[in-house]
Amino acid sequence: MSSKVFFATTGGHVKQGPVDKIRMLFEAAGFKDIVSERDLVALKMHFGERGNTTFVSPAYVRPIVEEIVSCGGRPFLTDTGCLYFSGRANAVGHLLVAAEHGFSPETTLAPVLIADGLRGSDVTPVEVGLKHFDTVDVAAGIHDANSLMVITHPTGHGLTGFAGTIKNIGMGAGGRYMKMNIHAQVRPSVDNEKCDLCETCLENCPTGAISVVDGEIKIDNDVCFGCGECLAMCPSRAITVNWVGDPLVAQEKLAEITYAALKNKSGRVGFWCILINITPSCDCWNFSTTPMVGDIGFLASLDPIAIDQATVDLINRQTCPDSTTPDRFRALANSRWDRQLEYGEELGLGTRDYELVQVGD
Ligand code: SF4
Ligand code: SF4
Repeated sequence: MSSKVFFATTGGHVKQGPVDKIRMLFEAAGFKDIVSERDLVALKMHFGERGNTTFVSPAYVRPIVEEIVSCGGRPFLTDTGCLYFSGRANAVGHLLVAAEHGFSPETTLAPVLIADGLRGSDVTPVEVGLKHFDTVDVAAGIHDANSLMVITHPTGHGLTGFAGTIKNIGMGAGGRYMKMNIHAQVRPSVDNEKCDLCETCLENCPTGAISVVDGEIKIDNDVCFGCGECLAMCPSRAITVNWVGDPLVAQEKLAEITYAALKNKSGRVGFWCILINITPSCDCWNFSTTPMVGDIGFLASLDPIAIDQATVDLINRQTCPDSTTPDRFRALANSRWDRQLEYGEELGLGTRDYELVQVGD
């Protein structure tokens, strides 16, 4: 059986502008039925790295917030801290970047809350018993919310080719350990040329894997469990990991974390894809590249797999003078991008078989 994916273009006229279309999609997709009176509703966002300018604009988030409020819900905008050295590596910096990018109660009418806490350790273990994970650490702010709206900015991605809804939840709804695990079964290494022996990493390593030996930082790989804390803490950016993992395994892990994040929210989740500024690189970068296609519009669905498949199909149908391949995302990662959807289907998250229903002009 196919799933419905509702679509609206960005173009418009009086009473058919982008904000009107978002409101129409909220209604058409049945999102009023997933929010109950007094529900705490998490809007899983990506606020964009500092320097990035192509993240989803707060102007598109505000009408979603208003619709949730009109249903009696209490929405908040949320994301989790990132693994590497970044303005978003802890909740304090992350909130500042979100504010710089216009996400505040004054603009969107919803507060911002970092779902995995100050340093990414505020997580709830969820048992899944799947191929890669028995238990998944889900960010507590997402796990504990009554309902969830996943607002995704689809882009390309170096490891997975395509970054859509499954990537948004799979990478962004888990704690720090889950992020480390996705990227590779590798351990951090230290560039001693950059290290000034400040010992910040040593003081913050939860397992005591780091020590100073003969005037150099050493990491004991048998003790390190790959939490990634030292990457985020090092002020000299002297700690790195090998980011080249198996992209197909990484995609399967993203789907398993998505499964865990949605496990306690059956019938309580709505998915959005904002097909505007579709860049080859994701919003985690501190810059933005030229979009690979023109703006397409907005998608809304109750099915995370169907909305991602529809997103890729709509993007691949756009003409692009620089591209000779009909599959832009495969070209980006030189690998399959669709294992995340194939495996998500196997896990029962949704279906790649969809019906596209246009809303508005
Ligand atoms: S990744 Fe975590 S456990 Fe491993 S060395 Fe860094 S802080 Fe310690
Ligand atoms: S935090 Fe970075 S600079 Fe400081 S001791 Fe560790 S690796 Fe060296």
